[in-house]
Amino acid sequence: TLSFGLLFAMPVMRRTHINQEELTDRAAELEVAVVTDPLTGLYNRRYFEDAMAEYLTEFNRIGAPLALLMLDLDHFKSVNDTYGHDAGDVVLKELAMRLRALTREHDIVARTGGEEFCIVAPFAKVEQIRPFAERVCRAVADMRVDLGSVILRPTISIGVASTADGLTTTRDLLKLSDERLYLAKETGRNRVCA
Ligand code: GH3
Ligand code: MG
Ligand code: MG
Repeated sequence: TLSFGLLFAMPVMRRTHINQEELTDRAAELEVAVVTDPLTGLYNRRYFEDAMAEYLTEFNRIGAPLALLMLDLDHFKSVNDTYGHDAGDVVLKELAMRLRALTREHDIVARTGGEEFCIVAPFAKVEQIRPFAERVCRAVADMRVDLGSVILRPTISIGVASTADGLTTTRDLLKLSDERLYLAKETGRNRVCA
């Protein structure tokens, strides 16, 4: 009876064990899903806002410059209209990869809207912020997105705000970077307003 019981129970026990592992994996996956954007794999708006608040607390305390770059693809609607939504998605994914490559480990890169992205980056000196934003803008302008039948050359406009502007809250930094992004669009796109 005992050996029959063991033979019968063992696979069940093993199965339970596997289920537990699967559940742990699933929980980890869900944890990642809560903070990431499924299309690009970048952080989502929710994570961005939480992380930004934490960074601000820290950087306000030590008085070091923290920059917020708000990026928006130029004339992106026409990419969708001309080449289709899937082509637009390819551009978004490749842009996300490029932004990741351009930033450092402790920078936060997030997709905060449909074709809007935010980068939060700490700097040692205020003077480093504009050159960084300019480098990001140029590196995106240098991109070639090969769709097979056509090669696209996307550009972005960037509005920059930082704690060096005398701002201490996420809300104020978002407001100023948004105003500057608007100005970058108004003055010709594919440019930085800082
Ligand atoms: P501007 O230079 O002024 O920013 O012009 P724009 O065309 O980029 O701006 P607009 O706000 O008119 O259009 C944004 C477009 O982004 C429209 C929308 O269909 C597209 N979009 C938003 N999210 C996604 C997405 O997930 N995938 C694709 N393919 N397109 C998206
Ligand atoms: Mg746009
Ligand atoms: Mg937009």
